[in-house]
Amino acid sequence: MQDLKRKDKMAITSKAWIRDLVEETPLIDTHEHLVEEPRRFSGVIDTMFRCDDWPLLFRDYVLEDLHSAGMSTVEEEQFYDPDLSSVDKFSVISPYWERIRHTGYAQALSITFRELYGIASLSSNTVEELADKYHQVKKPGFYNYVLKDVCRISECHVHSVERIFMETAQPALLKQDLSIMELTRCSLTDIRRVEEEMGLTISSFDDWLKTIDTYFERFGTKAVAVKYQGAYYRGLRFAHVERHVAEKQFKTLIAPRPYLGPEGAQALEDYLFHYCMKKAQDFKLPVKLHTGYYAAKSNMPLVRIRDNAVDVCRLLEDYPGINFVLMHIGYPYQDEYIALCKQYSNAYVDLCWAWIINPVACVRFLAEFLMAVPANKVLIFGGDYIAVENVVGHAAIARAGLTETISSLVERGWLGAENVPELLDRLMRRNAHELFR
Ligand SMILES: [Zn+2]
Repeated sequence: MQDLKRKDKMAITSKAWIRDLVEETPLIDTHEHLVEEPRRFSGVIDTMFRCDDWPLLFRDYVLEDLHSAGMSTVEEEQFYDPDLSSVDKFSVISPYWERIRHTGYAQALSITFRELYGIASLSSNTVEELADKYHQVKKPGFYNYVLKDVCRISECHVHSVERIFMETAQPALLKQDLSIMELTRCSLTDIRRVEEEMGLTISSFDDWLKTIDTYFERFGTKAVAVKYQGAYYRGLRFAHVERHVAEKQFKTLIAPRPYLGPEGAQALEDYLFHYCMKKAQDFKLPVKLHTGYYAAKSNMPLVRIRDNAVDVCRLLEDYPGINFVLMHIGYPYQDEYIALCKQYSNAYVDLCWAWIINPVACVRFLAEFLMAVPANKVLIFGGDYIAVENVVGHAAIARAGLTETISSLVERGWLGAENVPELLDRLMRRNAHELFR
């Protein structure tokens, strides 16, 4: 009994010093979708920003849990109705909020409300204060305040939702990914978008390939990584298609009456994907791949997602010179990603977004990962948000999960306490520094 008490005390003490160390170590955030700060003051309301008040913070990803808990589309529209008062908006979501407040998504948002706005609990009594605080915090310079001062994040990687590559006004804080999904998917909409962004006309397959070259030449040395999120609509198996086959599909696509069936579109994308991989290799850019769970409502083909890890093996072998970052730990198939990173020297995993999809699964995942895989193969945090305010809650959950993982490994005797400071520094900062330029 005496022994047990002593052991409990030691456990509490070890958790406390590890927590302090995790709290004070600056974090590199390897995945966000933050828009440029002035966009938040533009007043533009569109599909990306359906409002400019506190319900915006539910967009990623609490809305999906509210939907899963039973909230209807009509109620969602009411929640975003600019003419409804904050109290009425809260009463729309209240029955569903009560059902989800324990999930990672909702806990992250609650922490943001508490740490950023000083609101202990969202209710009909506090919602008007929340509405005011939202606007008080959102003022010029708030990206620096939220990320650096509140979250102790030294830099973020941004996959822009505004441009294929964003030439940011804050390059020291917001490092940018070069998105290749638009360049490889190559739909008519993508072609129009590229023409507009680059101010040119695409009329042949050669033009398209030259445009890809131009993106890499112009932005390849500024980008931290290449980002591909095609796993949202296709598998990650890319056939080696011959150029003339891809060119024929492209001609069909831009013909006066285009018809490119799913097979034609896939052949074209397969070719272009490999084309971009060779470019990434030339520019020594790591390639970040979306794997696993979907940010969506009632739409997730698990068979395809389950195969992500299997499909990725071929890419890892085809491109030994490219470091691949497997995002979101491939949740819910994360065990396979431990095996991939243990086996292949060019496979890395990123816990971005995953901490809030399922915090407890991430604690288990990270503990198992560290027992099997070299410690340089994991990136520890990415908020995956469009609105910077949301990062606060997610970063707090990631720090709590990291603390729990490391202290539990120490307590169970799998990790020496003396190795903890260096390991934490590696996980929270050094891995990102080593992998990305
Ligand atoms: Zn993302």
